[in-house]
Amino acid sequence: MAKYNIAVIRGDGVGVDVIEEGLRVMRAVAPRHGIEFVFQEFPWGTAYYLEHGRMMPPDALDLLGPFDAIYFGAVGHPDVPDHITLHGLLLPIRRGFDQYVCERPNVLYPGVTTPLRGKNPGEIDLVVVRENTEGEYADVGGFQYQYTEQEVAIQSAVFTRHGCERVIRYAFELARRRGKKRRVTSVTKSNAQRYGMVLWDRAFADVSREYPDISTESLLVDAACMNFIRRPESFDVVVASNLFGDILTDIGAIVTGSMGLAPSGNVNPEGRYPSCFEPVHGSAPDIAGKGIANPLAAILSAGMMLRHLGAEDAASAVQRAVERVLAEGKVLTPDLGGAATTLQVGEAVARLVTSV
Ligand code: ATP
Repeated sequence: MAKYNIAVIRGDGVGVDVIEEGLRVMRAVAPRHGIEFVFQEFPWGTAYYLEHGRMMPPDALDLLGPFDAIYFGAVGHPDVPDHITLHGLLLPIRRGFDQYVCERPNVLYPGVTTPLRGKNPGEIDLVVVRENTEGEYADVGGFQYQYTEQEVAIQSAVFTRHGCERVIRYAFELARRRGKKRRVTSVTKSNAQRYGMVLWDRAFADVSREYPDISTESLLVDAACMNFIRRPESFDVVVASNLFGDILTDIGAIVTGSMGLAPSGNVNPEGRYPSCFEPVHGSAPDIAGKGIANPLAAILSAGMMLRHLGAEDAASAVQRAVERVLAEGKVLTPDLGGAATTLQVGEAVARLVTSV
């Protein structure tokens, strides 16, 4: 019996509901694969902030450190600025646990309609590897003469040789592991960002020499955005800085059908700290509390977590059950053209996961 201790942070908005369905599916898949889950919930997020003046307690990372993984919903609230919610919860976890890889697969599944003309299920199958601890999200900068007419803001991006190389190397290893197109595309804007992104380009060229079996491509971010729409089927593994990876994964999510289908893992590949798995989407205030959020991104994120923990068979079962629900097309939330609730989709996957 494999025992996994999972910290659960549902967070805000639809995060609360979609995590419920991910937990349902994990509980359903566990017995058949000899897994025991111990889930411990942490009630952190904007409600916690409004009561305590901070998004999570000061010793949060000490509390999370001993867990095998973290299962996370979403963070964000219309009444509290993002720089408080995001910087108070998710970013400290990513940085504190050195989760320097954010892995975000985008797959066009059978049964799902893409807004792009002429692209068929199975054709789009890419993973964005987003740098997750430095780059444009580095917490370096400040204000001077704040709230006056002379106000100045300085925002610095931080690119380190070590930080670039390790995330780029992960992308090459992933291209090998996937065994698909065996190609890594690097995305920068080094024609305009003449220091950090030039360092990134150099690191990409150096690391790529270690992987002669993997083909490479380098794109400027504007061309990459265009090609995510024009020829998404040409991509395999895409590696990008923090900001560009964030933008590209929203495009990747929408061209493969819905924000409600895109999973992600914030990974510390060395396993020194727990990794954190969460849907790409945010708290979706426009549909929060309506019971119609698509839970499949959260469920697929649970599948990624299982794979990361070494429960390969259980992870594949989750993946297959989701694919079956999509292909049957009977129990889908409104974002995918259906009329089912979050709960009904979760129950459908949980039923199938024991038999696929
Ligand atoms: P946040 O600030 O928390 O990121 P947001 O509204 O800016 O919130 P998302 O939460 O990612 O960003 O939502 C973007 C759009 O995608 C919204 O229209 C939302 O309704 C939709 N969406 C997000 N998640 C889901 C989901 N699970 N199911 C269906 N639609 C979703």
